[in-house]
Amino acid sequence: MRIGIDCDGVLRDFIPDVINLIKEKHPEHADKILEPTSWEWESWLPFWTEDETEKFVFEDNYERLFGPEAHPIHTSAYDWPKLVHWAKEQGHELVLVSAQRPHCEEPTRQWLDKWGFDFDEIHFTKLKQLIDVDVLIDDSPEKLDTFKNRSIERGSPICYRQTWNQECQKKYMTIDRLSDIMDRLFG
Ligand SMILES: [Mg+2]
Repeated sequence: MRIGIDCDGVLRDFIPDVINLIKEKHPEHADKILEPTSWEWESWLPFWTEDETEKFVFEDNYERLFGPEAHPIHTSAYDWPKLVHWAKEQGHELVLVSAQRPHCEEPTRQWLDKWGFDFDEIHFTKLKQLIDVDVLIDDSPEKLDTFKNRSIERGSPICYRQTWNQECQKKYMTIDRLSDIMDRLFG
Protein backbone atom coordinates (compact mmCIF):
# COMPACT_ATOMS: atom_id res chain seq x y z
CA MET A 1 0.00 0.00 0.00
CA ARG A 2 1.15 3.51 -0.77
CA ILE A 3 0.46 5.90 2.08
CA GLY A 4 0.30 9.61 1.22
CA ILE A 5 1.15 12.01 4.02
CA ASP A 6 0.76 15.79 4.06
CA CYS A 7 3.35 18.06 5.67
CA ASP A 8 1.85 21.19 7.27
CA GLY A 9 -0.65 20.36 9.98
CA VAL A 10 0.34 16.67 9.96
CA LEU A 11 4.14 16.63 10.36
CA ARG A 12 5.02 20.30 10.75
CA ASP A 13 3.31 22.33 13.46
CA PHE A 14 2.73 25.17 11.05
CA ILE A 15 -0.27 27.01 12.54
CA PRO A 16 1.12 27.17 16.12
CA ASP A 17 4.42 28.40 14.64
CA VAL A 18 2.55 31.16 12.77
CA ILE A 19 0.73 32.15 15.96
CA ASN A 20 3.92 32.24 18.02
CA LEU A 21 5.75 34.26 15.39
CA ILE A 22 2.96 36.84 15.26
CA LYS A 23 3.13 37.13 19.06
CA GLU A 24 6.90 37.57 18.86
CA LYS A 25 6.99 40.10 16.02
CA HIS A 26 3.68 41.86 16.65
CA PRO A 27 2.95 41.66 20.37
CA GLU A 28 0.29 44.33 19.89
CA HIS A 29 -1.85 41.67 18.17
CA ALA A 30 -1.14 38.84 20.61
CA ASP A 31 -4.47 39.00 22.43
CA LYS A 32 -6.48 39.34 19.22
CA ILE A 33 -5.56 35.97 17.76
CA LEU A 34 -8.61 33.69 17.74
CA GLU A 35 -8.80 29.92 17.66
CA PRO A 36 -8.12 28.71 14.12
CA THR A 37 -11.32 26.92 13.16
CA SER A 38 -11.22 27.62 9.46
CA TRP A 39 -8.88 27.71 6.52
CA GLU A 40 -9.62 31.44 6.05
CA TRP A 41 -6.86 33.51 7.66
CA GLU A 42 -9.20 36.44 8.31
CA SER A 43 -11.57 34.36 10.41
CA TRP A 44 -8.95 33.90 13.12
CA LEU A 45 -6.41 36.66 12.40
CA PRO A 46 -9.01 39.44 12.15
CA PHE A 47 -6.50 42.30 12.52
CA TRP A 48 -4.93 41.59 9.11
CA THR A 49 -6.32 41.30 5.63
CA GLU A 50 -5.76 38.10 3.70
CA ASP A 51 -2.97 39.82 1.74
CA GLU A 52 -1.24 41.05 4.88
CA THR A 53 -1.20 37.58 6.41
CA GLU A 54 -0.01 36.04 3.15
CA LYS A 55 2.86 38.55 3.08
CA PHE A 56 3.80 37.82 6.70
CA VAL A 57 3.80 34.06 6.15
CA PHE A 58 4.97 33.54 2.58
CA GLU A 59 7.23 36.55 1.96
CA ASP A 60 8.61 38.04 5.16
CA ASN A 61 8.98 34.88 7.26
CA TYR A 62 8.88 31.87 4.97
CA GLU A 63 12.40 30.71 5.82
CA ARG A 64 11.60 30.63 9.50
CA LEU A 65 8.17 29.00 9.03
CA PHE A 66 9.15 26.42 6.40
CA GLY A 67 12.89 25.91 6.95
CA PRO A 68 14.76 23.77 9.51
CA GLU A 69 13.85 26.05 12.45
CA ALA A 70 10.15 25.26 12.12
CA HIS A 71 8.72 22.87 14.71
CA PRO A 72 7.40 19.38 14.06
CA ILE A 73 4.23 18.14 15.70
CA HIS A 74 5.66 16.32 18.73
CA THR A 75 3.78 13.08 18.28
CA SER A 76 4.64 12.94 14.58
CA ALA A 77 8.38 13.24 15.24
CA TYR A 78 8.06 10.65 18.01
CA ASP A 79 5.99 8.22 15.91
CA TRP A 80 7.99 8.52 12.70
CA PRO A 81 10.69 5.88 13.35
CA LYS A 82 8.00 3.42 14.43
CA LEU A 83 6.01 4.16 11.31
CA VAL A 84 9.03 3.67 9.04
CA HIS A 85 9.87 0.36 10.71
CA TRP A 86 6.27 -0.84 10.41
CA ALA A 87 5.99 0.26 6.77
CA LYS A 88 9.17 -1.63 5.84
CA GLU A 89 7.95 -4.77 7.58
CA GLN A 90 4.54 -4.58 5.93
CA GLY A 91 5.81 -3.56 2.50
CA HIS A 92 4.12 -0.15 2.53
CA GLU A 93 5.57 2.99 0.97
CA LEU A 94 5.49 6.38 2.66
CA VAL A 95 4.92 9.18 0.17
CA LEU A 96 4.99 12.89 1.01
CA VAL A 97 2.20 14.74 -0.81
CA SER A 98 2.44 18.39 0.06
CA ALA A 99 1.19 21.57 -1.64
CA GLN A 100 4.19 23.83 -1.10
CA ARG A 101 4.62 27.03 -3.02
CA PRO A 102 7.71 26.81 -5.28
CA HIS A 103 9.93 29.00 -3.08
CA CYS A 104 8.99 26.95 0.00
CA GLU A 105 9.96 23.60 -1.50
CA GLU A 106 13.69 23.82 -0.78
CA PRO A 107 13.22 25.06 2.81
CA THR A 108 10.73 22.20 3.26
CA ARG A 109 13.24 19.64 1.96
CA GLN A 110 15.77 20.98 4.46
CA TRP A 111 13.16 20.80 7.18
CA LEU A 112 12.30 17.17 6.37
CA ASP A 113 16.03 16.30 6.45
CA LYS A 114 16.64 18.06 9.73
CA TRP A 115 13.81 16.25 11.50
CA GLY A 116 14.49 12.86 9.91
CA PHE A 117 11.29 12.55 7.89
CA ASP A 118 12.75 10.29 5.21
CA PHE A 119 10.14 9.42 2.61
CA ASP A 120 10.21 6.85 -0.18
CA GLU A 121 8.96 9.61 -2.51
CA ILE A 122 8.31 13.32 -2.30
CA HIS A 123 5.65 15.11 -4.35
CA PHE A 124 5.08 18.83 -4.11
CA THR A 125 1.71 19.52 -5.72
CA LYS A 126 -1.67 21.07 -5.03
CA LEU A 127 -3.28 18.37 -7.16
CA LYS A 128 -2.97 15.63 -4.57
CA GLN A 129 -5.69 13.57 -6.24
CA LEU A 130 -3.31 12.93 -9.16
CA ILE A 131 -0.70 11.16 -7.01
CA ASP A 132 -1.08 7.38 -6.97
CA VAL A 133 -1.49 6.76 -3.27
CA ASP A 134 -4.06 4.47 -1.67
CA VAL A 135 -4.73 6.74 1.28
CA LEU A 136 -4.01 10.40 1.97
CA ILE A 137 -3.47 11.64 5.52
CA ASP A 138 -4.22 15.37 5.48
CA ASP A 139 -5.62 18.15 7.66
CA SER A 140 -7.17 20.31 4.92
CA PRO A 141 -10.93 19.89 4.40
CA GLU A 142 -10.62 20.99 0.79
CA LYS A 143 -7.78 18.60 0.01
CA LEU A 144 -9.54 15.69 1.72
CA ASP A 145 -12.80 16.32 -0.18
CA THR A 146 -11.05 16.63 -3.54
CA PHE A 147 -9.04 13.48 -2.88
CA LYS A 148 -12.21 11.63 -1.89
CA ASN A 149 -14.02 12.65 -5.08
CA ARG A 150 -11.24 12.56 -7.65
CA SER A 151 -8.33 10.37 -6.53
CA ILE A 152 -6.93 8.58 -9.60
CA GLU A 153 -6.40 5.52 -7.41
CA ARG A 154 -9.85 5.88 -5.79
CA GLY A 155 -7.88 6.31 -2.62
CA SER A 156 -9.34 6.99 0.80
CA PRO A 157 -8.94 10.27 2.67
CA ILE A 158 -7.83 10.12 6.30
CA CYS A 159 -8.39 13.22 8.37
CA TYR A 160 -5.62 14.30 10.74
CA ARG A 161 -7.56 15.89 13.59
CA GLN A 162 -7.13 19.65 13.96
CA THR A 163 -9.43 22.41 15.21
CA TRP A 164 -9.94 23.58 11.62
CA ASN A 165 -11.29 20.33 10.20
CA GLN A 166 -14.12 19.43 12.55
CA GLU A 167 -16.60 18.81 9.71
CA CYS A 168 -14.21 16.30 8.10
CA GLN A 169 -13.96 14.38 11.33
CA LYS A 170 -17.62 13.41 10.90
CA LYS A 171 -17.15 12.24 7.31
CA TYR A 172 -13.79 10.50 7.17
CA MET A 173 -11.67 8.15 9.19
CA THR A 174 -9.86 10.47 11.60
CA ILE A 175 -6.62 9.98 13.46
CA ASP A 176 -5.16 11.86 16.42
CA ARG A 177 -1.55 10.98 15.73
CA LEU A 178 0.43 9.28 12.97
CA SER A 179 0.91 5.97 14.74
CA ASP A 180 -2.89 5.55 14.83
CA ILE A 181 -2.87 4.44 11.20
CA MET A 182 -0.97 1.28 12.11
CA ASP A 183 -3.99 0.06 14.06
CA ARG A 184 -6.79 1.84 12.27
CA LEU A 185 -5.98 0.75 8.75
CA PHE A 186 -4.51 -2.64 9.14
CA GLY A 187 -5.22 -3.75 12.71
MG1 LIG B 1 -1.79 20.47 5.65
